[in-house]
Amino acid sequence: MAAVKTDHAVFVSIGSNLGGKLDNCLSGIAALTESGESSLAGVSRFYRTSPVDYADQDWFVNAAIEIRTTMAPLALLDKLVAIQRRMGRKADAVRFGPRVLDLDILLYDDRVIRMPRLTIPHPRMHKRAFVLQPICDINPSIIHPVLGQTVADLLSHLDDEDQRVIPLEDQPTLL
Ligand code: ADP
Ligand code: MG
Repeated sequence: MAAVKTDHAVFVSIGSNLGGKLDNCLSGIAALTESGESSLAGVSRFYRTSPVDYADQDWFVNAAIEIRTTMAPLALLDKLVAIQRRMGRKADAVRFGPRVLDLDILLYDDRVIRMPRLTIPHPRMHKRAFVLQPICDINPSIIHPVLGQTVADLLSHLDDEDQRVIPLEDQPTLL
């Protein structure tokens, strides 16, 4: 009998600050969820956000999605990297700098993973309004498996007032 592959609940962040930002995000989501291995289970609002780690660049569009996937964590990371490349992202670009598409794994079930290529939960998610707000749109009571707090609590305790996260006026409908 063939082994049954279980579905995992995974949150992925999406960002773009080059070219057609919203379209880049939508293409990335489509590429990730069209394969049959991953299906879309939740979508946040789409936001206009100010750059955080490297401020001298254009504003971003950011969102998050929840997927159900049979892919293992590293296989999913490889898939995200391949989609980013296909969308024209240069492998040697400035860290935290401008990008056509950034896809990060935020949470994978309630797993804690620390490998050279992959850290889950995403190591900076709890400090970033542009990540926490979109997760809260989908499910505010998700618990960060290392910090033991809900994403809603983490968002409400963020004290960085420079982080601007403004919903786009025209929201796409994906679900
Ligand atoms: P960032 O998203 O932090 O701005 P990059 O997108 O350039 O930076 O990612 C750099 C590397 O981060 C990737 O090649 C990947 O191996 C690694 N990485 C570690 N943890 C994660 C994660 N949870 N999601 C996505 N990439 C990760
Ligand atoms: Mg990334």
